[in-house]
Amino acid sequence: MKIKRAQRYGFCSGVRVADIKVRRFAAKGGIGAILGQVVHNERVVEEMEKLGVRTVHSLEEVKEPVVVFSAHGVPSSYHEKAKALGLEILDTTCKFVYDIHKESRKALEEGAHLVFIGDPSHREVVGYTHDLTQSSYHVIASLEQAAGVDWRAYGSIKIFYQTTLNAEEYEPVARAIEAANPRTSRADTICYATKENQEAAMKLAMDGEVGVVIVIGGKHSANTRHLFEICSKLKPCHLVQGASDLEIAWFDGAGCVGITAGASTPDYVIDEVEKAISLL
Ligand code: SF4
Repeated sequence: MKIKRAQRYGFCSGVRVADIKVRRFAAKGGIGAILGQVVHNERVVEEMEKLGVRTVHSLEEVKEPVVVFSAHGVPSSYHEKAKALGLEILDTTCKFVYDIHKESRKALEEGAHLVFIGDPSHREVVGYTHDLTQSSYHVIASLEQAAGVDWRAYGSIKIFYQTTLNAEEYEPVARAIEAANPRTSRADTICYATKENQEAAMKLAMDGEVGVVIVIGGKHSANTRHLFEICSKLKPCHLVQGASDLEIAWFDGAGCVGITAGASTPDYVIDEVEKAISLL
């Protein structure tokens, strides 16, 4: 079976740095707990637990001396809360996420109403919005939601995107807000790593030789799901977390298999899936 990998796939720089920081911490005997998954990948989470850094879902659950903030970032108030609880912080927040925190704070100080296009329950978006007063922002996930707001009520509007969104898919949402209020500007916050992985995935799925595409990544990873959505519009496509999810029937008459992976998928999982396909 011929296998082609997308030109760009897998860990982005932010996740790679977060992963390295936590592993170094564990290797030095550090005892800590990660608030939320360090990256959205169940395999990485399991591995971290084996290294002695378990995942928790609230600061109150942390019994260890150190709390790890993941690449997605946290609300600023969590830093103060962690200190008040006597916890040390290992901060692995991606620098691009910090840029959005800074830029949105600045826009707010300048009097803009903030719009975050994305999933309101995604931890990155919670990080941006948790500390804001409710009247100062909207989180918009669809065109219908955008149509339900009277945008003319705001003096100016600044749009931010959750970093891992598919830009094209949400373009109509941004346009609808701009059309309703001409004093709207956008911050270009879709991450380059996401864009590059998405473009490469589309190119792979468009490749005439590729009969089926396998997207590798965590079930809860937003960017992995976006890669799956892009590829499945063009070719038969399957999302797997690892080699054990592969089904032989998917490859019947496929000839050539395309492989891509989400930004939170470790290299060894990609290698493992590729090897399993090559042995089919
Ligand atoms: S996808 Fe981009 S913004 Fe998100 S963690 Fe990775 S490098 Fe940072």
